[in-house]
Amino acid sequence: MKEDILHNLSIINKRIKDACEKSGRNPDEVKLLLATKTVSPEHIKVALENGYHLIGENKVQELKEKYEDLKATPHENHFIGHLQTNKIKEILKLGVTCIQSLDRLELAEKLHQKFSAENKTIEVLIQVNTSHEESKFGIPPDKAIELVTKVSEFSTLKIKGLMTIGLFSAETEKIRTCFKILKNLQQEIIRENIPHVEMKELSMGMSGDLETAIEEGATIVRVGTAVFGARIYPDSYYWN
Ligand SMILES: *Cc1c(COP(=O)(O)O)cnc(C)c1O
Repeated sequence: MKEDILHNLSIINKRIKDACEKSGRNPDEVKLLLATKTVSPEHIKVALENGYHLIGENKVQELKEKYEDLKATPHENHFIGHLQTNKIKEILKLGVTCIQSLDRLELAEKLHQKFSAENKTIEVLIQVNTSHEESKFGIPPDKAIELVTKVSEFSTLKIKGLMTIGLFSAETEKIRTCFKILKNLQQEIIRENIPHVEMKELSMGMSGDLETAIEEGATIVRVGTAVFGARIYPDSYYWN
């Protein structure tokens, strides 16, 4: 298993590098986030002990279960799943540095309440539903600027960019449309010049579509299956 993970990581690196080359980008501009849902701490550590640093979990419960085991191994943890407001308190204690899935004002309000009470701040990305699928979380693109503007007023939440999950499709061009929507939205928000809003990060692209995402400007690709193998739970378990 260890060899498999390391081998898979080297393949992913090569895919990222090739995609950057193809689109004239510097590979240093693209961070690899390992999506570690269902992956055991033992397997996560294989990556963390071999030069990889950034992981992402989808559920607070899983984050909590792995916390002790991973604590001593240097890494950074982003939250990439649907966050329920009753779990915010726990997020505070689990060392998450960025919530990539901020998708509604109510969540922002509750986060701000809790974080200001603790005198802490956290980085966030605004999750946008670019595929218009009912089953996916995220703010609709036409509501995103309004949400960014409102969230920007919460001093504990540092907006760093946008995140999306592309359409599940075998048709690359349809997936590309999702990534283009996110990129265009980023450009639009930059033009709005909203105080306290940074729009540097575009978190998009997964195991199956990371090349397309990089061609369209991704700065963070989130990869699970292609590194750790297939999961036993369907993604709907995490995304609904
Ligand atoms: C699971 C997950 C990924 C990684 O998906 P793979 O297809 O396994 O690479 C990326 N982003 C989010 C939000 C996820 O939940």
